[in-house]
Amino acid sequence: MKCAIVPPYVLARIAEAHPRLPVAADAARRALSELEPLNRARREAGGSAGPRGGTAVAATLRRRVSDAGGREELPGVPVRGEGHPPTGDPAVDEAYDGLGAFYSFLEAAYGRSSLDGAGFGLDATVHYGREYDNAFWEGSRVVFGDGDGEVFNRFTVSLTVIAHELGHGLVQFASPLDYQDQAGALNESLCDVFGVLAEQYVRRQAADDAAWLVGAGLFTPEVSGTALRSLKAPGTAYDDDVLGRDPQPATMAGYVQTSSDHGGVHINSGIPNHAFYLAAARLGGFAWERAGQIWYDALTEQQLPRDCTFPAFAAATVAAAEKRYGVGAVETSAVQAAWEAVNVMV
Ligand SMILES: [Zn+2]
Repeated sequence: MKCAIVPPYVLARIAEAHPRLPVAADAARRALSELEPLNRARREAGGSAGPRGGTAVAATLRRRVSDAGGREELPGVPVRGEGHPPTGDPAVDEAYDGLGAFYSFLEAAYGRSSLDGAGFGLDATVHYGREYDNAFWEGSRVVFGDGDGEVFNRFTVSLTVIAHELGHGLVQFASPLDYQDQAGALNESLCDVFGVLAEQYVRRQAADDAAWLVGAGLFTPEVSGTALRSLKAPGTAYDDDVLGRDPQPATMAGYVQTSSDHGGVHINSGIPNHAFYLAAARLGGFAWERAGQIWYDALTEQQLPRDCTFPAFAAATVAAAEKRYGVGAVETSAVQAAWEAVNVMV
């Protein structure tokens, strides 16, 4: 399994940017050519595996960051283990801190011990490839490229990117969601949701104060854009002459029917992303507490089918809200109103 943060439609735009951005165009072309065969490998692997839900196990944080040294080989050479001091290499130390932040977030917010609920060791590889334009989860570790320097900075620069990729581990262990069509867009959305919540948790930001951006800081100053995606306002994260305009819809009115990118998993994720934002904004306070708890319960306790649709997931969040807070509770009403606002009928 390999879930990359930068979708193929973004890489395709950069790949056409010769001769203006020669390094970025070449880097994007290489990153793009990688996605298809790896996606096939993902399908052939038959989806996710692992225990469902969380179990009460004594928390143990075990981090290990490895350095691929510019090669596209995993895992690379271990350079920082749990409890070791900073190395001075920003990619190594950002990855180490990001792993710790996501672990602390899961434990504090949801009482979950790591990705699998049983203390799963957190592994990262940095300096993967040369000018590598992506970050990804490959089934048991997160992997970060250094970026091309013209469009993308190093991918560890954003905690939401690190947390999004670890989110793929959480989703893999907690649900059977396919990485295809609406189930795939829900998979992507859940990673964005827990990615931004991890950052909000670290920053102690309330819903009203948060940026709700995935990948802020990832673009170089050459790019007209603030991030890869926005949960608050899908479709507004960037508008750039090379990248084009952020294509994410916020409601079902803009739903994109496509066979590329696993059926538009990085595009249509804007719709459940925005539903989560609306529920969190309506409830106010810390978004990981009530809105986040409901989404977490839906993911871990509602027995989602592998081909889960948006309406089925919406129904799961309402059921989770009713179970935890009650029928007719403000939390349940906020979740129902959020899905209605994006035209997903429960
Ligand atoms: Zn992803």
